[in-house]
Amino acid sequence: MTTDHYAVIGNPIAHSKSPDIHARFAAQTRQDLQYDRLLAPLDGFLATVQQFVRAGGKGLNVTVPFKLEAYAMATRLTERARAAGAVNTLKFENGEMLGDNTDGVGLVTDIVRNASVAVAGKSVLLLGAGGAARGVILPLLHEKPARLVVANRTHSKAVELVERFAPQPCLEVSDFGMLDDTFDIVINATAASLASEVPPISPRVFAPRTLAYDMMYGAAPTAFMQFATQHGAAARDGLGMLVEQAAESFYLWRGVRPETAAVFAELRDKL
Ligand code: NDP
Repeated sequence: MTTDHYAVIGNPIAHSKSPDIHARFAAQTRQDLQYDRLLAPLDGFLATVQQFVRAGGKGLNVTVPFKLEAYAMATRLTERARAAGAVNTLKFENGEMLGDNTDGVGLVTDIVRNASVAVAGKSVLLLGAGGAARGVILPLLHEKPARLVVANRTHSKAVELVERFAPQPCLEVSDFGMLDDTFDIVINATAASLASEVPPISPRVFAPRTLAYDMMYGAAPTAFMQFATQHGAAARDGLGMLVEQAAESFYLWRGVRPETAAVFAELRDKL
């Protein structure tokens, strides 16, 4: 049997934890595979992918800034990739390029299973309308929240994003400044934490029972997590989402679902 090759492709890519995560999944499930980092030139995504496929590569994880290009190049798309308009996982099989998006299901699994917080029947506030936010709307809707409110700094982008989905009573758009209700779950899908900033929202969105989830992760709580806990919420970062989206990609490629708890704990220790 030959070793199957996979990689994460992006620019930059040196920081990616995906090779570490997939190596642990492979060892745990006894899958014979190699998983590398692949740096593509900013104007050379297509050529780099084609070269990887010609060399026998079986699949890619796609990260910043290529998720839209991966969406455009896929010859077949899953429903969740189509809804997101972005692809973070490619599978090469029988001359086809299947594009999937596992970010949203990774988030939902981390909230519902790992944090034991149900989305069904709850009010959810999603902050942001960029690549990360667009991937999570469909998986959140599948959980049947009572409300899913999308708010973004540039309001028109939130409107545009919500209009991609069929009208449904639970899905709304709001301005940051207009948010005055309390939510059960507040998800920060903005890049504000990268600059140690907090989206300009009222602390009234938080209550003691609120889960404040920041998609960003790091050694210390993010500015958003600190803001949320100061106002009584329980906070969680996006490390679990990272591990769960990787597990879903692994499952798509290998048909085997890895255990994530130990991998999550090992990664947390290394941050
Ligand atoms: P994008 O660049 O596609 O989108 C950025 C979003 O953040 C936009 O909605 C933008 O608003 C908003 N924004 C940026 N700065 C601020 C600010 N200072 N205040 C308020 N809003 C701001 O980024 P992504 O969607 O790809 O990533 C967002 C975050 O999610 C990042 O922190 C990233 O690390 C994280 N992420 C985590 C993953 C995980 O597995 N844990 C997976 C993917 C992403 P505007 O439209 O007005 O510009």
